[in-house]
Amino acid sequence: MQNVIERVLVTREEIEKRCDELGKEISEAYKQDKEAPLLVALLKGSVPFLSELIKHIDLDIQFDFMNVSSYQGTQSVGDVKILKDLDISIKDRRILLVEDIVDTGRTLKKVTQLLMNKGAADVKVVALLDKPERRVVDIEADYIGFTIPDEFVVGFGLDYNEHYRCFPYVGVLKKEVYK
Ligand code: 5GP
Repeated sequence: MQNVIERVLVTREEIEKRCDELGKEISEAYKQDKEAPLLVALLKGSVPFLSELIKHIDLDIQFDFMNVSSYQGTQSVGDVKILKDLDISIKDRRILLVEDIVDTGRTLKKVTQLLMNKGAADVKVVALLDKPERRVVDIEADYIGFTIPDEFVVGFGLDYNEHYRCFPYVGVLKKEVYK
């Protein structure tokens, strides 16, 4: 364990096992559709989760990326900005939005609305982590990997000022790192 981590919350093995379960659930939910869903992953935090999850979805899915910014350091900064838009048209497509973590829920709400405004047939959400104690917007992910307490976590895609994303587990960042 790296020395910036106070404790590990979710191990690599737990993530792999949960992604296998989620992949099976998702495959089952969409298997009757003529066209498989388009997975929209939010950069950069959801990349490791997307990579693990798609190994376990037994459908001819496609994926695309959006980049929105909502956080600087450990502080939420109100509005969400679109930094990179999608390449693939989502008109009449079923979308599965892939998120690293649902915190206040603001990002999810905004991006879901944006995708519906672009003509998506339907938007569902799969999130690796959920911090329900922090929610200020009434929105829930349809598929959740792990529910965690209100602590600032890094690893498996989650960063602190672009660091620690590549840790293969999710851990609580030591407070002295950002204080
Ligand atoms: P929300 O809009 O739900 O408040 O925030 C979602 C975004 O905030 C996430 O995609 C993530 O980038 C960031 N975020 C929220 N909680 C944490 C956390 O504990 N650690 C890190 N590294 N980012 C977080």
